[in-house]
Amino acid sequence: MKRIEALQALADLTDRHPVVVTCAATSRELASVKDGDNHLYLLDAMGLVGSVATGLALGVDPSAPKVVGIEGDGALLMNPNVLPTGGYLAPDNLLLVLLDNGVYGSTGALPTYCRGSTWGGSRQPWDGPHDRRTPSTA
Ligand SMILES: [Mg+2]
Repeated sequence: MKRIEALQALADLTDRHPVVVTCAATSRELASVKDGDNHLYLLDAMGLVGSVATGLALGVDPSAPKVVGIEGDGALLMNPNVLPTGGYLAPDNLLLVLLDNGVYGSTGALPTYCRGSTWGGSRQPWDGPHDRRTPSTA
């Protein structure tokens, strides 16, 4: 599944939910498939989706629709401490979605350190210019 296909599916499912989305290409792609008033685009704030979404989930009425955070693998690697923090605070109304394609999608598809593993899910093999099995030497 391509990232934009995942974003289209998420946009279709989250009309009633506050959505916090990671920076750069992912924000632009989500805005291109659907630019909702419920979307918070974290432009120039790489790695902060989990922090912002957790804080938002703790601050809104717990009976309101879940806060959905959409993060990329490269951004999560920039701020991995959001996982134990979110796990400790554990708001029931938070859903963090990780789009793991094994590359920094906004910087020329440079491979991330995720290229040899997954975050517990699965990943389709990357078919971009920097295949995760043969990192660029440029
Ligand atoms: Mg990525």
